[in-house]
Amino acid sequence: MHIASRTQIFVGGAWQDPATTDSIDDVNPATEQVIATVPAGNAADIDAAVGAARTAATDWAATDPKQRAAILAAARDELKGRADEAAELIATELGAPIQLAQRLHVGLPLTVLDSFATLAGEFEFAEKIGNSVVRGEPVGVVGAITPWNYPLHQVVAKVAAALAAGCTVVLKPAEDTPLIAYLLAHVFQTAGLPDGVLNVVSGTGPVAGQALVEHPGIDMISFTGSTAVGQRIGAIAGGALKRVALELGGKSANVILPGADLAKAVKVGVGNAFLNGGQTCSAWTRMLVHASVYEQAVAMAGEAAAKYPTGDPFDAATRIGPLVADRQRTRVRHYIDIGAAEGARLITGGAQPPEGRDVGYFVRPTVFADVTPDMRIAQEEIFGPVLSIMRYRDEDDALEIANATEYGLAGGVWAADADTASAFAARMRAGQVDINGGAFNPVAPFGGFKSSGIGRELGRHGLAEFLQYQSQQF
Ligand code: NAD
Repeated sequence: MHIASRTQIFVGGAWQDPATTDSIDDVNPATEQVIATVPAGNAADIDAAVGAARTAATDWAATDPKQRAAILAAARDELKGRADEAAELIATELGAPIQLAQRLHVGLPLTVLDSFATLAGEFEFAEKIGNSVVRGEPVGVVGAITPWNYPLHQVVAKVAAALAAGCTVVLKPAEDTPLIAYLLAHVFQTAGLPDGVLNVVSGTGPVAGQALVEHPGIDMISFTGSTAVGQRIGAIAGGALKRVALELGGKSANVILPGADLAKAVKVGVGNAFLNGGQTCSAWTRMLVHASVYEQAVAMAGEAAAKYPTGDPFDAATRIGPLVADRQRTRVRHYIDIGAAEGARLITGGAQPPEGRDVGYFVRPTVFADVTPDMRIAQEEIFGPVLSIMRYRDEDDALEIANATEYGLAGGVWAADADTASAFAARMRAGQVDINGGAFNPVAPFGGFKSSGIGRELGRHGLAEFLQYQSQQF
């Protein structure tokens, strides 16, 4: 596809020349070629965008929620019309296999836009509690900072919820995947979003991101990314008493209890760990298996992993594309070396590049067995296709291992029946747990316990994140 460089930012409903003269290279991770450049916005660019968002805030907050719903529905239709273009862009700048890009990277944001269009029209923005009427008011101007791994979904999950709530937004998308955010800005512009309600400034984290977090005109920061950056943002926002919502990292456990359908649990578990090349915050990167069936599960996981060929994102046979960037490939290979040095048993994969893949940021889908809770590969987020299989003695042991990381984002539990799995899941310190392979629910709250974050996205809980409440007593 033809991909054009961008020289402008989207501020106040118009494409404007930025104050910055710096730019960021957008690299195709499959070819290592620069495909485009975008502006590396600076503090002055952020200031202009925040000014536009503040100017638009009062009118947008006062709109009838049904009007906001209509604009979100129009944006959904517009994105639907550009779905192929969006999927090709994501396959090119992220390296996601094209079918995954179509089905998940674009399919999910369409569903999420649809859900917020419905919700904006139905949400009870005021409720009676005793002698009070409690009114949900938009928080104000939101700074949204997003990562590259689901570059459209993570933007839409924030922007659609904030707009539904009546907030205006300044978005700073990830530097590795900025072009899809430009496409979304066009989508909202065409959908008739009033000027200044959504502003997009591309840029780096330390410059544009930090300027956004520190800007006094921002009422709330909604951030998705690494725990380290989230902690830093939380500290700055705390100092200024700004609202924050933080969606951070994970090290989620897939717990296979005795009596579960082992073959299915292992197959689905491997697929979950390798989804999007393992670059998924909620990936089940630890598989916990009872000692009695451990070797059986390890063999099944090795076989399942062989069905995940790496390759060109535009080849229909590819299930794992390149990782997003050279630094990410280096990081993941380093962790594979660490796992081997820690004494984990390599079942498949390894740190060397996949055969025939000298160009592109590819890594081998890797499975380790005999991983113990004290190992770094059992504790730290790797963010690549690396699965650690761990052994437990009994249910209490499994629970202790499942909960024994700093994270608490997601998980899976498999058992002979749903009640047993659900009772176990209730003791897990994690924000969302799939029971016997239950499907992802785009209107259920998504977010983490512990170091995986603060706040929730999606559905009515996600909308409420962008509200503050006024109680009027009668
Ligand atoms: P990252 O934290 O490096 O970057 C995320 C965003 O923050 C980018 O837009 C970046 O430019 C910006 N940023 C970086 N430094 C900043 C600063 N000092 N001030 C303000 N903004 C700054 O993370 P990443 O490498 O892009 O993404 C991977 C991480 O994101 C993983 O840890 C993953 O688990 C996490 N993640 C979490 C979720 C979730 O919903 N919980 C979803 C996706 C990704």
